[in-house]
Formats: sequence, structure tokens, C-alpha cells
Amino acid sequence: MSAATTPSVESAARGAKSSAAIGFLSSSPKKLLIGGKWVPSKSGKTFETINPANEQVLALIAEGDKADVDEAVKAARKAFEEGKWSSITPHQRTRYLLKIAELIEQNGDELAELETLDNGKPLSQARAIDINGSAGIFRYFAGWSTKIYGDTNPSDPSTFNFTLREPVGVCGLITPWNFPLMMAAQKIAPALACGNTVILKPAEQTPLTALRLGELIQEAGIPDGVVNIVTGFGPGAGSAISEHPDIDKVSFTGSTEVGKMILAASTSNLKRVSLELGGKSPNIIFPDADLSQAIPNAMSGVFFNSGQVCVAGTRIFVQQEMYDNFLDQFGKAAERMTVGDGLDPKTRLGPLVSKEQFDRVKGYLALGRKEGARATIGGEAIEGKGYFVKPTLFADVNNSMRIAREEIFGPVAAAIPFKDETDAVLQGNDTTYGLAAAVWTKDISRAIKVARALKAGTVWVNCYGLADTSMPFGGYKQSGFGRENGKYAIDLFTQIKSVYVKL
Ligand code: NAP
Ligand code: MG
Repeated sequence: MSAATTPSVESAARGAKSSAAIGFLSSSPKKLLIGGKWVPSKSGKTFETINPANEQVLALIAEGDKADVDEAVKAARKAFEEGKWSSITPHQRTRYLLKIAELIEQNGDELAELETLDNGKPLSQARAIDINGSAGIFRYFAGWSTKIYGDTNPSDPSTFNFTLREPVGVCGLITPWNFPLMMAAQKIAPALACGNTVILKPAEQTPLTALRLGELIQEAGIPDGVVNIVTGFGPGAGSAISEHPDIDKVSFTGSTEVGKMILAASTSNLKRVSLELGGKSPNIIFPDADLSQAIPNAMSGVFFNSGQVCVAGTRIFVQQEMYDNFLDQFGKAAERMTVGDGLDPKTRLGPLVSKEQFDRVKGYLALGRKEGARATIGGEAIEGKGYFVKPTLFADVNNSMRIAREEIFGPVAAAIPFKDETDAVLQGNDTTYGLAAAVWTKDISRAIKVARALKAGTVWVNCYGLADTSMPFGGYKQSGFGRENGKYAIDLFTQIKSVYVKL
């Protein structure tokens, strides 16, 4: 689809204070980064990226497809085989990654405004979490370049045997729109630390910060072709990456549905795949919990980023005897959250990312009522421009309703009663997902027993949503496989060679 509209940046980005962000948006259409050069898509097509707070066009973006992915793969392959990146010293790679971290921080105000304009999230959160978090991720993985070891192995005395840990090669990185810069950082930084070259395809809804990151990566002096960025749609650019015979690995974050398609496409050349997919995470609150902590955390656990978080605690399990009290306290607190434009400092809850997501969430609000759930607060969209939905708490939910089984990805919580510890664990685990879970109790034995029993890649005890780049992150069941972050990310982006030397 070729976009004819000429964006009016002044109007679409009204309220933005960073002149750098306005300048970046004004040089539209944005291009693809291939082999160190910014180029239009071969087809000449572009698409629009929209400010979800006012539905106006922020910029036109090059629509890359298979032909552009082919060029990007050639550039990444050339850079990899020439050893421009894999054969420099690990210390040099550390320096480059630290430089990227520094540039992200130096340009943090601009990046935060671009993220808020494109995604809708509150500016203070974009600045503190997405942008500072992305710089932190580059800094963390900068340290890993010099700490990737092989082993010497106990051998027959007539041989000397050792292993080498080598980069996988050319990596395709496909990212979602909920934390656009941070998801890109979480894949690019470890891939580069290990010596790979990459092709990034950011989500069509939020391509801006990835493109600005591409400029900063060039400014940091990373050799041409090491990082390539192809914007475009899933079925065009995304599937070209997952099917490509010369891509060695795909790292994907997004929906379970697309994750399955990526895995199926990988069989063409048996490329390695790691998948970070959806969730329907249980947040279990026992009556002995400190409710002054449990309630605000249950709220941010499900409403943070307008609920567009893979680890969102969307199924809140509350023991029967305190169910009504919980509904009352949670409802009162949630109704005080200000919904609005992310650029307004009062805003706690921004718009949903896109019209498609807005319609989808509204569909689930109607479905919840039809299934017999009762919205104690919210339950509807806000009239007018922008994709705003009121924070919603559904009561009288049982775990078999579709609103308790399907990922909604909006500010919609489902409160489900439970009888006792066994019932809480059974219901909590009764889901096709297994990304995260939480348990609130002052009883340490119960906390640990429940943490062990929950089938999820991350379990929080008396907290929700804590994240640390040194901790592994990933899913059980249909929430995917592979663990990002920490030393586990190094496993994802390296392969091991056994070398036998006859003495
Ligand atoms: P999605 O389709 O899975 O998008 C994630 C990424 O995959 C985007 O870059 C997307 O490109 C790309 N993609 C789409 N189809 C593809 C294909 N056939 N081959 C290769 N890549 C492809 O997610 P969505 O449609 O934006 O959101 C739908 C639902 O996914 C949400 O409601 C939520 O439940 C879930 N989700 C989960 C996460 C998470 O962090 N786990 C993040 C976002 C969404 P496009 O830009 O063209 O879409
Ligand atoms: Mg947008």
C-alpha cells in the first residue's frame, strides 16, 4: 500500500518538545539501512506510522519486502564472512557497544519522545524504562564480548581437545511494538557481542526508534553491513527473513500465532530459532499478603504500558474470602489512573498502539460481558480521537472463559476466585501459556512451594514485573523457547565447535 498523505509533523507530534525528534520526523520518508547506506525500498513503496494519541501520520516509512531483505542478507553475509566484526578483538566489540549505550543516553530525550509519539506510552516511562533500559542492555552485553569462553576437555593423552564458542552468523531479528527500542536492544546487543551480523525488522506500528538507533549505530562506527534494518510488514519483510536460506538464526518476539509460522518457515534451511511469545500470567494473592503492596502491584502488573506487555498479570487469582474486598480496593485505585496522551505529564495510561489493537481490545470487552463477566470499572473505550480504553476490571470470571484464556493485550484485568493453595496452582497452570506468574503471601514456605509449582519462565514473589538483564527471560509451554538475557543469551547467539588435535 503506497501512502499518498504528506504528514503534518507539527500537528501529528503536537506537544513534543525535542527539536531533534521533530527534525527526525520531518526528514520523511524514512529509509532502510542496508550495507551502511540508507536506501529507499526497491518497490518504492512506503507506509504510514501513526501517533495513536491523535490518529495522525507522523512519518512515511520505506516498505521493505523480499527483494530488500535479500540485499540486507547479502550485506550482512559479506560483513560476516569478511570478518569485519567477528574477527576484531572482543575488546574492540566491547568499546563499540559501550559507545552505542553512551549515544542512546546522549540522545535519550529525543528517543523517548519518538517512542511516546509512535507507541503512545507515557513519556516518563519511555525515558526511564525503554530508553535508559536500552542503554543498560548495550552496556551489559558490552561486558560479555570479552567473557565468552570455550573449554579444554579431559582427553586421551595422545590428543588435545578443546571447544570454541563461535558466532552463529547472519541473524534475523523480528521485534514487536510494545517496547520497540528495548526489544531491538535485547536482540542486537547480544548478537553483536557474540560477533554476529544482523538484519532487524521492527514492528510496522513503531519503526521510529529502531531507525534512529540505526543512525546511532553508524555514529558509533560499527562497520557497514553489520547491522541492517528493513522496515515493512510481517507477511512481506518478516516472512522473507524467516524463510531466507542464507539466514542462520531468527530471534523473534511477538504473538504465539506468528511464532508458529516462523518455526514452520525455519525448516527450509533448519535455521536456529528462539521465540519469546505471549502470556496469560497468573498473579496469585493469598489473604495473608501485604495488600498495601499487592494491590498497587497487581494494578501496575496488568495496566503498565496499557496492558500491552507479554508478562502482564492478566489473571488475578484472589482467595474467596477476600474477593469482594479486593475488587473494591483495586477498583478504587485503578479509577484514579489518568488516561491520556503520553506526552501529558499527568498521564498514567496511554492509548493502545493502533486501530487494530483498539478494535481487538474492544472486541474482548464485549466478549467478557457476553460470557457473563461483570466490569466493576471501565469496560469501554473513550470517545473521540485516539485509541484510548478505560482501565477495566472484570469480576465473576472463571478460568475457562475466553477472556481468561486468550491474550488481550490491553488494560483489562480478570479477577478469579480460588479456594486454597492447591486450587490456585491448578487454575494458575491451567493455560496454554507459561511466561510469568506471581505469588503474594507472607508465608515463606508457601511462597516457595507455589513458585516451584507454577509452570512459568519467571515467577515473582511479593512483587510484579521486576526485570534484570542478568536474569534469564523466556517461556514455558506456548510462550516460546530459548532464554534471552544473562549468560543464556550468549547460548542463543553462539554455536560450539569441538576441535581435536593429535599430538
Ligand atoms: P505479531 O504479528 O506477532 O508481530 C510481531 C512481529 O512479527 C512484527 O514485527 C510483525 O510484523 C512480525 N510478523 C508478523 N507476521 C509475520 C510473519 N508471517 N512472518 C514473520 N514476521 C511476522 O504481533 P501483532 O499482530 O503486532 O500483535 C498481535 C498480538 O500479539 C497481540 O495482541 C499480543 O497478543 C501479541 N504480542 C505479543 C508480544 C510479546 O511481547 N510477547 C508483543 C506484541 C504482540 P508487522 O509489523 O507486520 O506486524
Ligand atoms: Mg505508530
